[in-house]
Amino acid sequence: MKFLNLDNNVPVIEKPYQGQMLIDGELCISQKGKVTERKSPAHDVVVGIYPDGSREDAERAVNAARKAFDNGIWSNLSGSERADVLIRVAEGIADRVEEMALIESLETGKPLTQARGEVSGCVDLWKYAAALARTLHGESYNNLGTSTLGVVMRQPIGVVAMITPWNFPIWILSQKLPFALAAGCTTVIKPSELTNGTTLILGEILQQAGVPKGVVNIVTGLGPAVGEPLVTHPHIDMVSFTGSTRVGRHIAAEAGRSLKKVSLELGGKNPQIIFPDCDWKAAVDAVVFGVYFNAGECCNGGSRILVHKDIAERFTLDVIERSKQVPVGDPLHPDVKVGAITSEAQLKVIQTAIENAKADGAYIRLGGNRLPTEKGMFIEPTVITNVKPSMSVAREEIFGPVLSVLTFDTLEEAIEIANDTSYGLSAAVWSKDIDICLQAAREINAGTVWVNNFLEGFPELPFGGFKASGIGRELGIAAVEDYTEQKTVQLHIGERTNWWLPKT
Ligand code: NAD
Repeated sequence: MKFLNLDNNVPVIEKPYQGQMLIDGELCISQKGKVTERKSPAHDVVVGIYPDGSREDAERAVNAARKAFDNGIWSNLSGSERADVLIRVAEGIADRVEEMALIESLETGKPLTQARGEVSGCVDLWKYAAALARTLHGESYNNLGTSTLGVVMRQPIGVVAMITPWNFPIWILSQKLPFALAAGCTTVIKPSELTNGTTLILGEILQQAGVPKGVVNIVTGLGPAVGEPLVTHPHIDMVSFTGSTRVGRHIAAEAGRSLKKVSLELGGKNPQIIFPDCDWKAAVDAVVFGVYFNAGECCNGGSRILVHKDIAERFTLDVIERSKQVPVGDPLHPDVKVGAITSEAQLKVIQTAIENAKADGAYIRLGGNRLPTEKGMFIEPTVITNVKPSMSVAREEIFGPVLSVLTFDTLEEAIEIANDTSYGLSAAVWSKDIDICLQAAREINAGTVWVNNFLEGFPELPFGGFKASGIGRELGIAAVEDYTEQKTVQLHIGERTNWWLPKT
């Protein structure tokens, strides 16, 4: 395995980024004045200092967002006026790609090259949302007879709480925020306590782009201290959450008490199904990419492959050979593809999953260990075989660079195994036979099915999960529609027929 170090003594960042929350149009510290420090999981040095917010800060932010929604400062603007602001935000992000990518890389442990791609990709999400701000519209019904014209209007749903995780902090926020703004909503955002940096830089950009006071508020802090008060607050109309299925369930239950709308993007255990007639080289590459991209800390990661029995051993050996060559190391090294694990808690989850797989009788064919580095938390690319569908390593999300290899005989069996987990986020099928591809695409219960590809995405295409992978869709036209309420207006034309007239 290749571990790449940067052999120099240059500090990873000149000085830690000191971000501020954004409440009611002001960049501010927390009410109690407390702060937390974030260390780079690859270098073990402090890279960010952030306000440690509390319920009081959340309360202030919700009140500001409520006021800004109710006074119409944003929702009363035309779509084109809102689009202008969203475009200015996109330009603001584009101007600060390098700075944001560095913080994103240092806080998550992901390669800087990849963080650059993530931040640049956000620019396009904001531009796409700007286009939707101008094209969002309702419907009219002129087929209801001569006495009625039906108009279905779309109105912003109101104040949206957005709670985000640590694996793609700015990307996931950009799948939510610009679309809610395009619809005319106001928001309170709570980023993951591990990766506040890029969300707070975005707060500065929003200020400069002229987002009116109170329309976007950002409160940093822990889930129970800041996230929970948002979910339960009566002034919040909708909660948009991305994170673990465990916390998602809790949030949905809490939001249910006050009948708030929820949108949930949760975990996955995404299979890639490999048939003997696949494009072999492309499939091997996509398997390696699918499982090690973002060190496997990816809800969409291809953490299990189902390989036809006739090619299973040969295909697995090729995957192992390729896995040995994947460059792991310092995320700031330009050639690194797999960086550090983001937190100690996540490192333990991965190590426990590997131990459980061994105890269940699976074979660790490659890796399986934490790397003995002087600094930082790194896990070897790991391939596990002899995995049975009933084992936890085949069913539970691990969120690390760990591949489970399962085998199958027939298409029907492959689909059955693919569907045999509580998740349903994404899947891929690899074959040159169109019938196999279409049947798999139709019968796999997942929000996205790739045919002869993996992990590609477009802002135009909806993204989300079946079953325990979530509720609702982001991206696509649904992304903006999800943040609206529909209102039916019935216009009567001409004289109305009386229901009853008293006899005179
Ligand atoms: P997490 O669920 O622990 O935390 C997510 C967010 O919720 C954080 O901001 C956290 O502070 C907050 N939170 C925690 N407890 C809360 C509570 N009681 N009330 C309100 N908020 C609370 O998830 P994580 O560890 O940050 O992220 C990893 C998980 O996210 C993985 O399971 C992964 O699959 C999932 N994920 C899903 C997608 C998707 O789009 N489907 C994308 C990325 C990550």
